Amino acid sequence: MTNPKFVRYACLLVLALSACQTAERATPFAITIAPTESARIAVQSSTSVPTADLSTLTPTPTATATVTDTPTLTPTATATRTATPTLTYTPSATVEIGALPTKTGDVVQGPPTWTPPPDNPAVQIADHYRFARPISDGGVNWADRTYPYGGTSGGRLQVHHGIDLVNPTGTPVLAAADGKVVFAGNDLSNQFGAHTNYYGNLVVIQHDAPSPEGLPVFSLYGHLDRVEVDNDQRVARGTEIGKVGASGIAFGPHLHFEVRVGNPFDFGATRNPELWVYPFARFGTLAGQVTDASGTLLHEATLQVRSTDIQRYAFTYADDSVNGDPTFAENFALGDLPANYYEVSVTDNGRVRFRETVYVYPNRTTWIQVQLKP
Ligand SMILES: [Zn+2]
Repeated sequence: MTNPKFVRYACLLVLALSACQTAERATPFAITIAPTESARIAVQSSTSVPTADLSTLTPTPTATATVTDTPTLTPTATATRTATPTLTYTPSATVEIGALPTKTGDVVQGPPTWTPPPDNPAVQIADHYRFARPISDGGVNWADRTYPYGGTSGGRLQVHHGIDLVNPTGTPVLAAADGKVVFAGNDLSNQFGAHTNYYGNLVVIQHDAPSPEGLPVFSLYGHLDRVEVDNDQRVARGTEIGKVGASGIAFGPHLHFEVRVGNPFDFGATRNPELWVYPFARFGTLAGQVTDASGTLLHEATLQVRSTDIQRYAFTYADDSVNGDPTFAENFALGDLPANYYEVSVTDNGRVRFRETVYVYPNRTTWIQVQLKP
């Protein structure tokens, strides 16, 4: 920084110097020579003394004082603000389920009371978590990640209209919310899936609260070993309604859990249950859209989602037989993520087509828009 006093002194010096120079140049006009008597006589006797009319001379400026109004500043410090902490990832070699809770007691039993500011204000987060986990305490209460809603398990299976909770035969199955049983039995003559004898023994419950768009909401429990409720029976959340089995088309014992909105018999009326089941405490859901560079939704794109602790994969919906939620219009959702920073990436033959770090908030859905580079 230039010292203003120094500038002032420097200017004074410049002005003084210029005054001195002016005085020197002016000397021919100001000095009065006292000639000696003989010289004066000589001058007087001469007739060829040049007579210059000094008054016609125009003085030439000899110095210019320049005042600089705008001092030139040199920044001495840089202010840097980093919005997103830098993460150091330690990728694990295998896909891990991670430390998921096993007790339904960890389920948040009500709407979240803390709502952090949306990380993407362009998206209205309209969570409608209203279902508890449908497996009794001690069982596996999260979705099989290899076959999520809308997935095909790498093309090996039909597009999935629900989520699978893999548990041994006989594990108690619980009503996910209060409601009334609208179907209890097998699907040999009533079609609920792609064809009859698809979900085997199943229970369908109509819940008391309608969907955000005002339509009736149903939960469906398929492949049961035993059905323990009757049609029209009222059930409360947590009521045991049957046991896990492998009836219908199932490779092994598990609960197939679905959410349907509108018509309970319509195989095309499903929604992603991960947007309806309460996250475990301190867990959240990541949902979003994956599009190509022109904005077209992509089918069966694979996203890698990893934090310092876990690594998961999400897959976009394989076709239009499954639905994005009207409030989100997502084409993928990944539940049961511990609240944390995650790197979300899409790679294609080793080439990164998308990579972004996102914080997944607890007890809510965090939105991400994934547009792949061409
Ligand atoms: Zn299933």
